[in-house]
Formats: sequence, C-alpha cells, structure tokens
Amino acid sequence: MVGEGVEWEWVWEEVMDHGSMIIGVTGGKGGTGKSTFAVNISSLLSRKYRVKLIDADVECPNDHILFSKELKNEVRERIFIPSFNYQKCIKCSLCQKNCSENAIVMFKNGYPFLLPNLCSSCKTCYIVCPTKAIESGSKFIGSTFITEINENLTLVTGMLDPGQERSYPMVLRTLDRANEIKSEITIIDTSAGTGNHVAASLMDAEIVFAVTEETPLGLHDLEMIERLIEKMDKMYYVIVNRHGISDINIKEKVLGKIPYDERIAESYYRGIPAVEMFKNTDIENYFLEPLMEVGIWQR
Ligand code: SF4
Ligand code: SF4
Repeated sequence: MVGEGVEWEWVWEEVMDHGSMIIGVTGGKGGTGKSTFAVNISSLLSRKYRVKLIDADVECPNDHILFSKELKNEVRERIFIPSFNYQKCIKCSLCQKNCSENAIVMFKNGYPFLLPNLCSSCKTCYIVCPTKAIESGSKFIGSTFITEINENLTLVTGMLDPGQERSYPMVLRTLDRANEIKSEITIIDTSAGTGNHVAASLMDAEIVFAVTEETPLGLHDLEMIERLIEKMDKMYYVIVNRHGISDINIKEKVLGKIPYDERIAESYYRGIPAVEMFKNTDIENYFLEPLMEVGIWQR
C-alpha cells in the first residue's frame, strides 16, 4: 500500500546502495499519457527522494503545464555548424561525400554550401576536410530551462526553436543541462516516436516504461517502440493507459493498467498531478504499484 513504512524503507535502502537510478518513460506515439505517467511518478517519488524529471520531448514539452509551472532559468542553446572558408577550399567534395545528412550541397565546379536545417552537428565534415577550410560556426537551436517544482523535484526542460527540424542535438543539450542537477532518481520523459532523438534520451536509462493505450494504433506504435528498446538491450515494461476504452487487452510485459478515470482527466486539465490532487486515494496506487512491482532498485 502507498506510503507504508516497510516498502518505502526497502526502496530507500536499495536506491542508496545503488547511488542513483535512471528511468525512461516513452511511448510510440503522442497522446498516450506518457507525460501524465512521468509527471505522476515524479511527483510521487519526490515525497521520498531527490528527483530530477527531464522533459526531453523537445518539440512539444508539456510537463511544466501538467504542474502548472512557468519555465525558469532559460539558457539559449547553440550547436556547431560548419562555416566554409572558400579561400582554403580546394573543392575536393570530401565534406559533401561524408555528410550522412546530405546537408552539404555542391554544384559542378562550385564551392560547398550548407543546408543548415539538415545539419545534425556531427562535425564529420570538419574532421575530413584536408585543408581546414571548414571552420567552427554555430547556430541557436532552442532553449533549456531548470524549474523547481517542489523542494525535492526539479524539472529540466528542452525546447526546440520553431522552424528547427533536428530534435536530436536539442535532446543532447537538454541531457547535458540536466547534469547540473544532482538527484537520486532521474526520470526522462522522451519524445513520441522511435527516432534517434528517442534513442538518445533512453541511452542511459536502466529501466524503461513504455506507455500505450489499447487501440489498434496504440498496439502498432507499441510494437515499434518495443523493437527500439529491445535493440538497445534495456529492461522495459508496458504501462497501459486509459485501460477499458476498448476490447483490446494487452498482456505481454504489462506492469500496470491505469483505467480510464475522469479524476485523472480532471487533474490533467487543472495542471495538478493526479497523485497530488487525489492524495491517499486509489489514484496513487495506479502510479505507485508499477514502481513497487518491478523492484527498480534491484538491478
Ligand atoms: S556537421 Fe555533420 S551533418 Fe552537419 S554538415 Fe557537417 S557532416 Fe553534415
Ligand atoms: S572538404 Fe574542405 S576542401 Fe574539400 S570541398 Fe569541403 S570544404 Fe572544400
């Protein structure tokens, strides 16, 4: 049961033995309740631990909204992009041939030029250029924020600038910024999808919760995200959100089923985590039981 001494003490000891724990929360598609789950377990765990929640859904970060908080402590983030020095360029095209993103264009007998929105900032062109004609330029891609939610819970948020097409470098910047915050438990709320920006968010996770819903689309996207997590060789479990909205019944690797409950919907719209708005009710168990079940602390 929630808050009972024995279980909490056991968890506490294990976390302290381990030093810290990184939990990934993901989902194949948007709108499955991934952020709701991440926010609620963060809030719950912050009653006992120092928790850092990283909102790595950089195209559409919304964890702060679910806490009714304004983002604070903005830092503008920039990344490397190549800058060509045509005085040194011998038009060898090595930069273009080695750019896996096709971000460098060269016309016959012309100099290379950059399509900046395609550049992933990998620096390969910079490294392969034989004449050092590529210099280090930079561009802003978005902002990171550090917002205190409560005395034990800090939210680190990454937000891509409008018009930027590359989530991956922004996720890396967000994870870097999060290193400023010390915590016993880190929870990473990833973007939807299965791209390299999601893989980057989950890279250090020791356990992953894949949040889905029991719809045909939910099943399809769950399969995709499971493939990615398995490829990354991560321990993972499935959390079914809005259980009961269809006849589909997902069973495999399911650790928790959060039923469709109007109280959770209400807490969402009011910007208060359900575990706070309905403290000491069955709502808490929906979010706490998966954590207790999995023995997170006994890797
Ligand atoms: S930094 Fe990487 S992605 Fe960007 S232009 Fe150079 S090789 Fe291409
Ligand atoms: S690799 Fe360097 S020298 Fe060759 S085309 Fe690119 S910028 Fe010019």
